[in-house]
Amino acid sequence: MISLKNISKKFSTKQGTIIAVDDVNLEISQGEIYGIIGYSGAGKSTLIRLLNGLEKPTSGHLTINDEDITSISEDQLRKVRHKVSMIFQHFNLLWSRTVAENIAFPLEIAGVPKEQRAARVEELIELVGLEGRGNYYPAQLSGGQKQRVGIARALANRPEVLLCDEATSALDPETTDSILDLLVDINEKLGLTIVLITHEMQVIQKICNRVAVMEAGQVVEEGDVLEVFQNPQRPITQRFVSQVSDTSQAKQTIKNLVDLYPNGKLIKLVFVGEQTEQPILSRLIKQFDLEVNIVQGNISHTKSGAFGTLILQLDGDALAVDEGIRFIHEQKVHTEVINND
Ligand code: ADP
Ligand code: MG
Repeated sequence: MISLKNISKKFSTKQGTIIAVDDVNLEISQGEIYGIIGYSGAGKSTLIRLLNGLEKPTSGHLTINDEDITSISEDQLRKVRHKVSMIFQHFNLLWSRTVAENIAFPLEIAGVPKEQRAARVEELIELVGLEGRGNYYPAQLSGGQKQRVGIARALANRPEVLLCDEATSALDPETTDSILDLLVDINEKLGLTIVLITHEMQVIQKICNRVAVMEAGQVVEEGDVLEVFQNPQRPITQRFVSQVSDTSQAKQTIKNLVDLYPNGKLIKLVFVGEQTEQPILSRLIKQFDLEVNIVQGNISHTKSGAFGTLILQLDGDALAVDEGIRFIHEQKVHTEVINND
């Protein structure tokens, strides 16, 4: 749906030329939630502003629904902007207008008649969960509610793509979660494609299908969230992944674990995708005459399923231990025996 081919954006400043976006290639599909993560200055905002024509690339081609928006007129570009809407970190609301008037604003600009506007505003207020707040002013709302107004306003003209520039970065963790839930909800209900940029891996983990990692203007790593989480290649990606699951620490301690748990066997289970640890553990305990200790666990949940590791100590009769291990092997979970004595 959105395709970037060799996209670069340079800025000329008094200090010289800045390459904000450096030869980026990306394909974003219809209906997915695509995350772009990077530290401050990586070029994320510039990249996302290219997607709705707020910035023009210095070189390369950008197509949305097979339309090359790098070579179209200002007039055609305005139409594209109807299809590609945006929300911001600091909401960008009109402070002297009520919630309802803020949401109506893009409808006024698009020339929608008054009665239709009112009906659409009601619909949107309900969609984002702001019932009863239509006559409030932005200053009377919490941060999360302000972002809900931002989302409603962005959806007013029924866009196909929603761009989110650090949309939850000004919010506390709980409010962040509720706004992310809302984004998933509208993604599913409306089939809306969402492109979001963030410096927080939790955001990617919670709602994105795919992720691109940006560093110094370049996309240095890209793929399905679950795969990138399991097997991050670049040091920067490993740093981001360790924000949410510190596997490096887990690796170091395995040697110590063997010394700490000399009895029975230590088993490492690796979860990827759909399975969760719960039924396996409870069945293991019920069906076999074993002592099962959870020695270490590290399970993270992404939009496409759980991943992580769980280290168990199975202790008891040697035969029962072997049967328990065979049972685990039969489950769709990767298993490894850590010590074999
Ligand atoms: P991010 O959103 O990842 O923090 P930005 O896209 O805002 O990164 O910025 C990337 C780089 O481009 C930075 O070095 C920034 O200073 C520079 N930059 C962004 N916009 C402009 C501009 N309009 N003029 C000059 N430099 C800019
Ligand atoms: Mg930015």
